[in-house]
Amino acid sequence: MRGSTMPDIGARNEMVVLQAIRLGEDGIAQAEVMRRSGLSRQAVSQIVRRLIDRGLVETDGTRSNGRGKPSTVLRIVPRAMLAAGVHLDPAQVTVVIVDLLARVVAQRSLGLPASSPEADVRRIGDAVADMLGQLRAEGFAAADGGDVAGAVAGLGIAAPAGLDSARGILLDPPWLPTWRHVPIVAQLEAATGLRVVLDKDTNAALTAESWAGSVPGDETVLYIYVGAGVGSAVAGDGTVHRGSTTQAGEIGHLPTGLDGPVCACGRRACLGLYTDASALLARARELELLPCAPGIAVACTAPAAAAAVTGHAVGEERVADALADLVRLAMAGNAAAREIIAGHGRALGEALRTLIGVHDPHRIIIGGPYWGLLAELALPELRERALDGAGREHGVLIESSRLGDDVGAIGAASLFLERELSPARR
Ligand SMILES: [Zn+2]
Repeated sequence: MRGSTMPDIGARNEMVVLQAIRLGEDGIAQAEVMRRSGLSRQAVSQIVRRLIDRGLVETDGTRSNGRGKPSTVLRIVPRAMLAAGVHLDPAQVTVVIVDLLARVVAQRSLGLPASSPEADVRRIGDAVADMLGQLRAEGFAAADGGDVAGAVAGLGIAAPAGLDSARGILLDPPWLPTWRHVPIVAQLEAATGLRVVLDKDTNAALTAESWAGSVPGDETVLYIYVGAGVGSAVAGDGTVHRGSTTQAGEIGHLPTGLDGPVCACGRRACLGLYTDASALLARARELELLPCAPGIAVACTAPAAAAAVTGHAVGEERVADALADLVRLAMAGNAAAREIIAGHGRALGEALRTLIGVHDPHRIIIGGPYWGLLAELALPELRERALDGAGREHGVLIESSRLGDDVGAIGAASLFLERELSPARR
């Protein structure tokens, strides 16, 4: 706990207890919470009492493990608190409402971002109102019996960097050219009447993993997000490390050490040259594996190096389709197509070898909107390269996310819940 203050410790303990109860599949005995949290009987019972007073946790009889006296069984009250989550991605805007177990209770896919931020803010506001109407019709109510809107604590929005999380502003997210210097938090607060927090998509995705129970709370976890570009996030002891300006994990220009072209940043063989969706497609078109189609984000004549750093939002939906075409070609046995996707895994594996040395993680989780397409063909090379060093010795686990395409939106909502439930923030 070096460098921690007392409220940090209190906040952390309460989150640890809440997390243990949340992850107890069929309720959890208070004695088991003590064991998992490593906290004293007195500390656990004080925290549990506070959580029960707030309506977040309820008791459900007692359970005996055969030794000692039976212990009180604790459960989360899932509907005690809901949160909305928005994922602003160049390929898709997704809005969800989740319960306290980060389970999706309502979802809307809004497709590509609109032509202006104002139009998207309106669409997001309408989607939230529409989902609340749906929940009302399904009989959802707040824990106190009041209207379901009263149960929604707030809204989290996840977006690509660069952004200013503290000021709630999108600065210059790549592939979203109209979203420059947009005060998204203030705009969404006005449109929804909810409190809003903003964070990076990678941080949100990692938060979703920890809320969904994929990440043991005491592990150091490295998350790799594969979307239009590639990004990373790191968490230790259940806390995502955001850096001084929330921009930690921008790994697109991490040199891979491969024998590759010079990047626009001046260095050689940067990760993004092999992993950006636009770079994969540019390479496929150079080799005439895919047709040149007007309107697709990558100019047919652009060398892969230039395309990787100038890719933009136009035709993102077609980028996803074109990527799926490339994968189909590779699956059907086309060697050149297989090599492009294997190259993605190889480069990411080299980058991970470096990142394993930097972060010393227990576990690496790879997800994001395009990973599902690429995983089968990219993962073998990735694993081999990544573990070619300390990673194998340390037994680093490398796995694909199980959360699917809504991970960013679920994570954004989880970010809000996490912030709301952390005593240090109250
Ligand atoms: Zn570079």
